Amino acid sequence: MAPGQNSISSKYVAVIGAGASGLIAARELHREGHTVVVYEREKQVGGLWIYSPTTESDPLGLDPRRPIVHSSVYESLRTNLPRECMGFRDFPFVPRVDDLSRDSRRYPSHREVLAYLQDFAREFKIEEMVRLETEVVRVEPVEGKWRVRSKNSGDLSDDEIFDAVVVCSGHYTEPYVARIPGIKSWPGKQIHSHNYRVPGPFKNEVVVVIGNFASGADISRDVAKVAKEVHIASRGREADTYEKLSVPTNNLWIHSEIETACEDGSIIFKNGKAVHADTVVYCTGYKYKFPFLETNGYMSIDDNRVEPLYKHVFPPALAPGLSFVGLPGMGIQFVMFEIQSKWVAAVLSGRVTLPSPEMMMEDVIASSAMLEALGIPKRHTHKLGKIQSKYLDWVAEECGCQLVEPWRTKQVDRGYGSLVSNPENYRDEWDDDDLIKEAYEDFASKKL
Ligand code: FAD
Repeated sequence: MAPGQNSISSKYVAVIGAGASGLIAARELHREGHTVVVYEREKQVGGLWIYSPTTESDPLGLDPRRPIVHSSVYESLRTNLPRECMGFRDFPFVPRVDDLSRDSRRYPSHREVLAYLQDFAREFKIEEMVRLETEVVRVEPVEGKWRVRSKNSGDLSDDEIFDAVVVCSGHYTEPYVARIPGIKSWPGKQIHSHNYRVPGPFKNEVVVVIGNFASGADISRDVAKVAKEVHIASRGREADTYEKLSVPTNNLWIHSEIETACEDGSIIFKNGKAVHADTVVYCTGYKYKFPFLETNGYMSIDDNRVEPLYKHVFPPALAPGLSFVGLPGMGIQFVMFEIQSKWVAAVLSGRVTLPSPEMMMEDVIASSAMLEALGIPKRHTHKLGKIQSKYLDWVAEECGCQLVEPWRTKQVDRGYGSLVSNPENYRDEWDDDDLIKEAYEDFASKKL
């Protein structure tokens, strides 16, 4: 059914979070004719791209009473994907040559991503829908609607009733700390990448970095500029892995994963090597957490699987009043947020219908069984990897929007490939000029 027909209805919708996912959700909901309130606890929009030099009181982020710092961005961070594939589709993330203060590099710094998101919010008048410095502290269903309790900077609390709530609160704030045998009696310092900002505190230290993907690759190289030695523990590597890297700083080793940590301060790797380390930095990822959500036990998070969720967006018995945008991590992010948001907006207006709760639940059960049959651990439920574009095309077809452009998928695949094969220089050397050309032709065609 086309927009504008009688059964299309406009809803009063709360969006939680004004990061990339909340901003595009607000835009798509508004475009579909809904009235939107975006709750954001920070002083500005942009989410995790708002760099803060402040870190949490507990460097591992395990103390449940610690005041939360949302962002996990470190000072030297540049994007880990090329800018063309990152931006929203009708607002491409292209260099702002009209403004010399902006970062025009293909893999720009975190400040440029924040500036892009704030440009986007301004362009589409999303800021007008945002209540800044307002934290959502409770969301619960009441008689077919949703009560949202929020608290503003003056600690004043407010309850408001909405037809629907879209959760866009991000999932890179609650550290996942890998378990290491013997670590409890190991005497050194431990920190999670969520609380890493600058290399200075690691001067002359021997540092073990756990994890060698995006953050691990970056932080190990950043720390190596000032540390005595940096040793990367890489789980994906063969047990006998032991390599010394001569670039960029000649003090960096890659090992297989850690076997054990010892009371005398040493860390022993599976390759049999031991180092006496001052600090362990965990670049081991994050956990989903929605402390404000009260669903009377219907939803839960088990081994980092948020369940039950139909296609990572709708909890069957609570849909469409409750939905989640942005849960799947890695790969295409902003455009995934865009496509999921279009789906949520269309379902809420009645333009697109969901299957019955029973049928959605059957799909949830079948998807879980498939992951199990493939030997994919539960904690990887929302890591779509190679099937992401198939997933996105399914959602796009469901709500009648454009499928993911093949150049975008190829850029992401090649981008991650070069991150792994050339972690030192992938941001400044590339071999996909053909894809850049295709991307810019696509942007130009959309302007016509
Ligand atoms: P966030 O940006 O985290 O936004 C969530 C918002 O919700 C925040 O503003 C927060 O304050 C607010 N919020 C949370 N709880 C509440 C509450 N209770 N009440 C009110 N407000 C609340 N992706 C890429 O595409 N390219 C990259 O190069 C890239 N680099 C990354 C580097 C790092 C270190 C990390 C951690 C992630 C990176 N990502 C990258 C992935 C990133 O997830 C996405 O780019 C995206 O910005 C996430 O947006 P989001 O809106 O889902 O979450």
